[in-house]
Amino acid sequence: MTETVSSGKIRQFRTMLEKARSVALAGHVHPDGDALGCVTALALYLHRELGKDVTCMFPDAAPENLSFTLNPSLKYLWGETCAADLVILMDCNAFSRTEALSEALGASSAPKVLIDHHLNPDSRSFNLVFSTPEISSASELTFWILKAMGWDLKDREIGEALLTGMTTDTNNFANSVFPTTFTMASELIAAGIDRDAILRKIYQSYRENRVRLMGYMQNEGLVILPEGAAYMILTKEIQHRFGIKEGETEGLVNVPLAIKNVRISLLLKEAEEGDHFRVSLRSKKGTSAQQCAMNFFNGGGHENAAGGKLFPGKDLGGESLEEYVKKALLSVLQ
Ligand code: 5GP
Ligand code: MN
Repeated sequence: MTETVSSGKIRQFRTMLEKARSVALAGHVHPDGDALGCVTALALYLHRELGKDVTCMFPDAAPENLSFTLNPSLKYLWGETCAADLVILMDCNAFSRTEALSEALGASSAPKVLIDHHLNPDSRSFNLVFSTPEISSASELTFWILKAMGWDLKDREIGEALLTGMTTDTNNFANSVFPTTFTMASELIAAGIDRDAILRKIYQSYRENRVRLMGYMQNEGLVILPEGAAYMILTKEIQHRFGIKEGETEGLVNVPLAIKNVRISLLLKEAEEGDHFRVSLRSKKGTSAQQCAMNFFNGGGHENAAGGKLFPGKDLGGESLEEYVKKALLSVLQ
């Protein structure tokens, strides 16, 4: 942590903040708990502790099941930007991950800061970069940055947002957990954050149709390759049949990793608009979901949790969807 959150970088961050009256904080498309959590937490800190005029920006809406992460005292923009004296990009490695906001954010003349934990940060586009893949989440990185800036852990709403983001990105301490991750959780719980309430909101507040879809896909949709891979194709038709909303398939791609022989799992989810599939990949240690996402699905992410997009019209080159998916999965199973 000391390297990523070095005192030199904190000093530089402070100086940039001193010069800024307004701050824009942005997160990636299809925001998850980590993106929503770290943007909300840092925005609260900058507004309440440093008196900044803050705006949170995302390319598209937060899923309904994560709307509890939004803080009513903050201003959120969905799919649009506004001018600011400082731009902070969080939980993604490049402005391109903010899709429709990318051009406006990248072209802004304001100084830019990156706070992220993905591989291959686009460091050249930023004046200051906090980036480490050796951490659970952007929310954990934000926790350590705030601590280094002197945050006393007293603001419960900041703590809740950070613990929520870390919890969703580690899938409740199942992956990407480091010694520092437990320290963070321990400090926040000791400071009075109610972890049980957070778990209830994340994992025990879904609608019935989400649980039924999970069962259906595991029964009817799961294909297992004997080489050690699994995939599921979630078409628009199935999503409509189960009345599935954004965010409600979270966690489905992880399920096949429960099978001993399965080393990598893939979920193709047909997008509601645009002729493409959203791709989610999860793998066990020693198998690279990230390589698979980068080489076959126009994406990236982390070693064991990655994603991207598949454009059948462009990418398949004559192969069927199934053939292409099998080729992609087998390529990382030597
Ligand atoms: P998920 O499967 O939960 O959507 O995404 C898993 C991980 O892959 C996340 O860390 C996310 O940031 C990354 N990821 C998902 N989609 C994309 C994409 O289109 N491009 C890149 N570079 N990363 C992605
Ligand atoms: Mn993250």
